[in-house]
Order: sequence, then structure tokens, then C-alpha cells
Amino acid sequence: MFIHKRKFIFISALTALMIIGFMATSLTSYFVAQESLSRNVSEQMLPLTSDNIYSEIQRDLLRPILISSVMATDTFVRDWALEGEEDSARIISYLNEIQQQYNTITAFYVSEVTRRYYHPSGVLKTVSELDTADAWYFRVRSLQQDYEVNVDTDTADRSRVSIFINYRVMDYNGQYIGATGVGLSVEAVTRLIDIYQQRYDRSIYFINRQGNVTLTGSNDQRLNRIQDEMGVSEVAAQILASPMATLEYISDGQTVFLNSRLVPEFDWYLIVEQVGSGDGERLDNTLLLNLLLSAAIMALVLTIAHFTLRSYQRKLEDMATKDRLTGVANRHLFEMIFEHLTRNMQRYPRPISMISVDIDHFKSVNDSFGHQAGDLVLNEVCQLILRHIRDSDTICRWGGEEFVLLLDYCEVEEAVIRAKEIQSAMQSFSVRHDKSDIKVTLSMGVAEYKAGETLIEFMARADVALYEAKKAGRNCIVQAA
Ligand code: GH3
Ligand code: MG
Ligand code: MG
Repeated sequence: MFIHKRKFIFISALTALMIIGFMATSLTSYFVAQESLSRNVSEQMLPLTSDNIYSEIQRDLLRPILISSVMATDTFVRDWALEGEEDSARIISYLNEIQQQYNTITAFYVSEVTRRYYHPSGVLKTVSELDTADAWYFRVRSLQQDYEVNVDTDTADRSRVSIFINYRVMDYNGQYIGATGVGLSVEAVTRLIDIYQQRYDRSIYFINRQGNVTLTGSNDQRLNRIQDEMGVSEVAAQILASPMATLEYISDGQTVFLNSRLVPEFDWYLIVEQVGSGDGERLDNTLLLNLLLSAAIMALVLTIAHFTLRSYQRKLEDMATKDRLTGVANRHLFEMIFEHLTRNMQRYPRPISMISVDIDHFKSVNDSFGHQAGDLVLNEVCQLILRHIRDSDTICRWGGEEFVLLLDYCEVEEAVIRAKEIQSAMQSFSVRHDKSDIKVTLSMGVAEYKAGETLIEFMARADVALYEAKKAGRNCIVQAA
């Protein structure tokens, strides 16, 4: 019982230790890998992507700013305006030339003096402070910077949204005389963003300094203001507070890594977002594999531990209860079995008998054939007796060449019959050793248990019978009184 409890404690402790150990190593390596992965994303991959996109955007979107700047400083444009805007055909043909040369969707000049809106197709209108559609002009007129980028409906085609570069035109003394520039189609830029998004597998969009989303890819479902957009609204203030930021927020339970940078030429922020760290799934799989592997190793270790312990346990039990030479019960086990039987007898009364066995002249076996031969004879006699008793009976090596048999459900008459069977079997029994056949005989004392007797008293009666058998000349069976 004690051994079983110890085994349980040992196996439990081993299991707990292994669980703690495997979990600790698997989880720490998982979190460390995840941490370094997300650091890698937010500190290296994303800014790098953002740099690439930024430079591509510069290449593709800064060209119209350059064109507009050239227009605003063109001496022809300024001279023509300062000389009273005579002959509209000249500026119209100039705008046509620009539009065709640079493949823009529009080119324009608005004069401060006449407020006329010149376009490759002619004079479109006169801008007025009363017309909300012309608000852009009056904004540009009082602009601090040289130009602005504005996404607006096209004056020439109201159904079309364009990106305008509105450049201030100054005379040679620095006085404002009008606005000029070109327009790009939004679809073209949207397509450009789509291409970037696909190429880098990131979400890309622009916002202005107020947080209004100015340009997105074609499939973007973003709201008008990032302050109103779930998730990104958490970091909206941080984005707008600095020209460059690396941030992250949670959206739908996933970490979104965000990189923002102000594009000064547009006065817009370029926002590049990446959902998750990309390799997260691979990490999760690795963790799962790790845990499965750990579980498999644990199962293996526990199985080995179980069988090792069980075998040791059995060996220990055998050592404590079995005779080493013959493998039959020792005194200790015999006493326990006797206790058990007599206790049971109170509930199920029945006869129990004992045969006390002693090998005759055993000393001479040792003397004539050696101690090893004696051991062999002891063993063989034991096996012979075992063949003549039932499974429910017990044979014990009491010591030396003396055995005690305990026969359950057996009256003394029947025990005597059993003893005789053993005796007659011994007649044809011999042990082959070194070309000689060793033969021995047994003396036996038989007694039936009397209720209330102790083991010592019971055995004493059987021993007295045995002694009488010896006295009677050995190879003899005597029934106790
Ligand atoms: P008796 O007929 O009066 O019983 O004569 P005996 O020689 O059998 O009796 P005795 O008690 O004088 O001798 C027992 C011998 O058994 C003495 C001892 O050396 C031997 N013996 C006891 N245990 C072992 C053992 O484990 N192996 C061997 N080989 N001999 C043993
Ligand atoms: Mg003896
Ligand atoms: Mg003897």
C-alpha cells in the first residue's frame, strides 16, 4: 500500500514537472519569437515598405507638382498675364500643349485681375467668391505656401473627381497674379495605390492634416475621418501629431502595425498598415507542434516510468515475501496468509490443515554431493510438493530443509492423504547431479487447526507429529493429536 502511494506521488510529481518544463520552454520561445517578429514588423519591415512606397509615390505624383511649378514660373505665362491677357488663344494653346505633352487630364490658368478660368478648351468661366465651387481659388489666393494639392470635382467636367495641383503665380515683384497647374485623374492614382497594395501586401491610403481620408485604393471601405474609424481612431491623435510615426492598434482582435509619414509636397500623411505579423500562423503551428511533441515525450516517459516502477515494485514485493532459493512464500508471507485465513474463518467456518515437512538426512546430501547439489534438491522437492497441492494452498520454506504446507478447506484425514501422495511421489523422485542420482525421503507431521489456536500453538502440534515421524524411522507420516 505504501509503495503504491509513493508511486502515485512520484508519477504525479514527474507529470507536473514535465508539464511545467515543457509549457515553460514552449511558451517562452513562442512569446520571444512573437515579440521579435512584431518588433521586426514595426521597426524594420513596415518602415522599409513605407520608404519604398514613399519613393514610388514621389516618382509618380511629384511630377505634376514639378510641371505646375514650371508653369507658375514660365515667363510666357507671366508676361502674357501682365500684358493684359490679350489674345486668349495663346494661353489656351499653351495649356493644350502642357496637357498633351505631359498627358494630364487638365491644365488651367486663373487670372487674379480678370478672374477668368482658362482651360485647353477655352475660357470656361469667371470664378466668383459667391460660387462655392470656386472656393479653392480663393483659398489658393491667400495660401502661405507656393501650392496646394486638392482633390476636387473638375471645373471642366463636374462628374469627374481630380487631383489638382494649384500653384500660385507671382509677378516679377512677388505680387500674386493668378493660379495655375494641372490635374490628374483620381482613378489613375487609385490604380497606382492598388498596384502598391498588391505589390507590398499592405493597406495604403492618404489622410490630410485634419485626419480626412484623401486617397485610398479602389476597394477601400474606409470612413471619411480616421478619428471615426474603429481601431485606428485610438492612434489618430498620435499620427497627426508628428511627421513620422510607427504605431500599432487592435482591430477585430488582430494587431495592426501602422507606419505614417508626412509627404510635405502634398501636406498629406501616407499611411501604410499591415495586419498581424505575417508569420503568426507559422508560429502558432510551431507552438502546437511543440506542445504535441511534448505531450508525446511525456506519454513515453510516463509509460517507461510506470513499467520501470512496476517491475521494481514487484521485485521489492517478491524480495519481501518470497524465499530466494525456491521462490515459494517465506515466513513473513506465510504468517500474513495464516492471519488472513483465520480471520476469514470466523465468517466462513471451515477446516484448515497443516503439514510440517522435513527432508531426511539432508546433511548427508550436502556432505556427499556438495552444497550446490543440496540447493538443487531443495528446489526440486519444492516443485514436487507444489505439483501435489491446490492453488488455494500455501507452501512456505520455513527455514533450511523444512517446509510448512497450509491447506485451506481441508480436514486432517484429507491432509494425510495428500501427504501420502507426496510421499509416494518422492519414491520415484531423484535429482540428477554429476552423474549420480540423488534420492531423498521426507518426514511429515499433519495437524488440523483448532479454533482459537495461535500459529505458534498450531505449528507446535504439527512439529511434535513431525518429531514423532523422525523418531519412527523417517520417511514417515504422523497425524497430530
Ligand atoms: P534429519 O533427518 O534429522 O532432519 O537430518 P538432517 O541432516 O536433515 O537434519 P539437520 O537439521 O541436522 O541438518 C539440516 C541440514 O540442512 C544442515 C544444513 O547444512 C542444511 N541446509 C540448511 N539450509 C540449507 C540450504 O539452504 N542449502 C543447502 N544446500 N543446505 C542447507
Ligand atoms: Mg531439519
Ligand atoms: Mg532434515
